[in-house]
Amino acid sequence: MAMNCATVKEWIPLYIDGLLSPEVEQSVRLHMMTCPDCAHWLDEAREMAEIWSEMDRDRSLQNDIDVPDLTAGVMAYIGKLENGRRERAATVTMARRRTMPRTSWVHYGVAACLTVILVQFGVFENLAYGITEINGHMSNTVSAWFGPGR
Ligand SMILES: [Zn+2]
Repeated sequence: MAMNCATVKEWIPLYIDGLLSPEVEQSVRLHMMTCPDCAHWLDEAREMAEIWSEMDRDRSLQNDIDVPDLTAGVMAYIGKLENGRRERAATVTMARRRTMPRTSWVHYGVAACLTVILVQFGVFENLAYGITEINGHMSNTVSAWFGPGR
């Protein structure tokens, strides 16, 4: 199978991915031996393919680090908090003082981090709660997620 340079350059991406039929692959390889221009093109295409696969790796690594579920859960909780705020406002403070589980410093630290994240999102702008009280709520939530905090 005789090939001209234009055809070979079209095949190169498939050649790198190993998607060509053995016959075509053989023809491309033969052409590379006799055509420095196409051989050089292949080298550059391979470098590009390497960069792309590295970028793919970085992307999947970032997806592992992301915690969208946690953030969504906190957001949902904040929404619930705001909806029930008026009804519970009269009684919640007394009740919570008696029933609030003892939270460890770790839980408080996590809650503080979540508070910082949420403040960056501007979630608290319309809430009447002080940050300290939010922290108490968040600690209870975090305790509920990670098991009893005692
Ligand atoms: Zn060529």
